[in-house]
Amino acid sequence: MAHGINMIPHNKPWITQDDRLAVDSILKSGWIAPGKQTFNLESEFQHYYDGGYSCAVSSGTAALFLALRGLGAEPGKEVALPTYACSALLNAINMTGATPKLVDVTPDTFTIDPDSLEKLAPNASIVIAIHTYGARANIESLRKFNVKIIEDCCHSLGGIHNGKTIGMDGDASIFSFYATKIITGGQGGLIWSNNKELIDEAHDYRNFDCRENYYPRFNFQLTDIQAAMINSQFKRLKDIVSRRYEIAQQYIKNLPSELIVQEGIESEGRMVYRFVIKASDNKERDALKEHLYKNRIKSIIPIERYELLHRYLGNEPEIFPVSEMLANTTLSIPIFPALTDEEVSHICNTLRSFKQ
Ligand SMILES: *Cc1c(COP(=O)(O)O)cnc(C)c1O
Repeated sequence: MAHGINMIPHNKPWITQDDRLAVDSILKSGWIAPGKQTFNLESEFQHYYDGGYSCAVSSGTAALFLALRGLGAEPGKEVALPTYACSALLNAINMTGATPKLVDVTPDTFTIDPDSLEKLAPNASIVIAIHTYGARANIESLRKFNVKIIEDCCHSLGGIHNGKTIGMDGDASIFSFYATKIITGGQGGLIWSNNKELIDEAHDYRNFDCRENYYPRFNFQLTDIQAAMINSQFKRLKDIVSRRYEIAQQYIKNLPSELIVQEGIESEGRMVYRFVIKASDNKERDALKEHLYKNRIKSIIPIERYELLHRYLGNEPEIFPVSEMLANTTLSIPIFPALTDEEVSHICNTLRSFKQ
């Protein structure tokens, strides 16, 4: 056991002096409601994607709800989504009144499987594709189905795939700035799209105040305190991507050969939001978790079996064999930029010593 290493958490936000100064300047200014900083965040995303439109909101779930609504989700419509996902997606769909249709994922990238989509959700008019843990979902193969596509970029912000920034190929992209995400303001979310009308509607919906007409709107606003912190972190996005990538490369070098990782995790520009290890079976996964814990490293099962969306909805597990397998065999280990070099090398040593 390494001495001097405290329990390493699974995740921890990276908050710098610049972040603190940015927040403090908003507190000092006396304007903490949505204002200049929120507007700046929206402009930053338009720079990042070299155009388009954006709307900053209070959470990723709110962003998803507004994207769904803007793309026509309503009672009688079907929305396809991977069952290997968090329940936020299901909540957003249910809020629109549309019917969720669950689909399995691929065993190599853990992203939505187009063949399963064809089989299980042939009538869906909208598909939510998550770039799971940073691995890009195959948007091109989803396009064949004549559906609207929402790219869920909560895990892929900063990622590049084949030289192109991830998140520009769907009809709308959504982001979360929750405490555990790539950049954070504690909470927060954003929608980006090339569809001006969709973004205009989102802007209209997020604020109820001072309106000449009435229909239900909701308070989905972000504060300038949150936006100031997110903007400050956004400036470090390149460093965040490269630090995560560099740590991942070290883990890969030290990983015993029977443990495998997501396809493409070593490709250039990859945002490694989570370093997820796939063991050969449930027993090996649990043994790895135990081995890490004994060495003061916290790991998590990124999506537990009971959390699979088809289990919440009471659908047959046999229809979703890959998601079931992933829930049984995967483990996520710490990979946040605030990890020290000493902690990274302790994690590497602990990985290398598994079963040896
Ligand atoms: C976090 C997350 C969401 C929801 O975002 P919140 O800001 O927590 O509402 C949606 N999709 C994915 C993939 C996420 O990781």
